[in-house]
Amino acid sequence: MNRKESDQLYKKATQLFPGGVNSPVRAFLSVSDRPFFVKKGKGAYLFDVDGNQYLDYVASWGAIILGHAYEGLINEISIAIENGTSYGTCHPYEIELAGLIIEAFPPVQMLRFTSSGTEATMSAIRVARGFSKKKGIIKFRGCYHGHVDSLLVKAGSGMATYGIPDSGGIVEELARYTFIADFNDIDSVYRVVRNNKDIACMIIEPVMGNMGVILPEKDFLQGLYEICKKEEILLICDEVITGFRVTYGGAYAFYGIEPDIICLGKIIGGGFPIGVFGGKREIMEQIAPLGTVYQAGTLSGNPVAVRAGIYVLKYLRENSPYALFDKRAEILKKHILSLAEKYSIPYTINSITGMFTGFFSKKEIRNYLSASEIDRAMYQRFFKYMLEEGIFFAPSPFEASFFTISHGEKEITRTIEAYEKVFAKLNRDS
Ligand SMILES: *Cc1c(COP(=O)(O)O)cnc(C)c1O
Repeated sequence: MNRKESDQLYKKATQLFPGGVNSPVRAFLSVSDRPFFVKKGKGAYLFDVDGNQYLDYVASWGAIILGHAYEGLINEISIAIENGTSYGTCHPYEIELAGLIIEAFPPVQMLRFTSSGTEATMSAIRVARGFSKKKGIIKFRGCYHGHVDSLLVKAGSGMATYGIPDSGGIVEELARYTFIADFNDIDSVYRVVRNNKDIACMIIEPVMGNMGVILPEKDFLQGLYEICKKEEILLICDEVITGFRVTYGGAYAFYGIEPDIICLGKIIGGGFPIGVFGGKREIMEQIAPLGTVYQAGTLSGNPVAVRAGIYVLKYLRENSPYALFDKRAEILKKHILSLAEKYSIPYTINSITGMFTGFFSKKEIRNYLSASEIDRAMYQRFFKYMLEEGIFFAPSPFEASFFTISHGEKEITRTIEAYEKVFAKLNRDS
């Protein structure tokens, strides 16, 4: 595979950006490779500057559920742009998108748009603290909620990949208010709340997507919900990945819980920068200008991003892709697992509608610890071989792979064929 142009650009980029990238997971360092530079995307495919084509399972980290450059969405955005790209004041579309979100997320009575998922979780924590007048946060080992200071403690993929437990530059005194519990381990949560009465909120990805896909076990989320109610801890569900991906709404609804605050991002902007947090009215009314909790943004509720979001949500409401996602995942899983058997590759697949992760492990992956025991060296080789086959999986073993509506039968077949070749090579290597 010729990557001459990409390599030249990478060389320039490394002079300009730390690691040559504008987000660390893009650097390919954890798979000892270097990034390709994208010229364009179309449907399920990316095309790089050297003319290589990749079937894209990263899908902008789950943000582009309609695939790249979806025609209807392009038309909508073009119309939106003709009317201006940012107003810095109110417009009707923010009300329309809010309406769609509230309809799909009944616990949300009031919300506020931001420009990223990070801003949504950061603001959610602030309002939870402002409302409860308490300080502590419970978060789960391996869950990622954006690069918020208080939340960069045991935060999954990016950091698990680089073996940095926490981030530099974070005030220790602040991190001390973040209490870590283990996913799928309700006792670890009891241990935290038994010793600390000053807990404002608990933040969780109801289905983990940032340590690879990890599903909550039976009654785990229900158990959390009950602890939160009893201890008066606000429950924040971070659905930045799962919102409108696992269903038309949120993953929380599968598990019979009702979060106090929900955070969304990624899909709801149709590939534009966006985030939103929302919840019960009495909580959200603490936010300025009504309350004392300050939160703001020059580009929040950006008209182009919001209209893109409206288009995507309406599309998903009217042309539900979720049953098809399940069918495609079923076929993929069945074939891949039988290929793993055939070539003696230790492989486990976790999936939920619209997203999956293949782990190089024979063991069940149910929390941070089991995920961090996978065979990273084998993933490195897998990643490179797949790239040579023209298939782009995330450059880290701790990420989810995403379907878009453009991942059709042809793409599934192509993926299975590539798996056969790659597993055969991995078998030969070992
Ligand atoms: C991506 C992500 C975020 C952060 O969103 P950004 O738009 O990257 O700031 C927060 N929470 C979860 C679960 C995410 O996957």
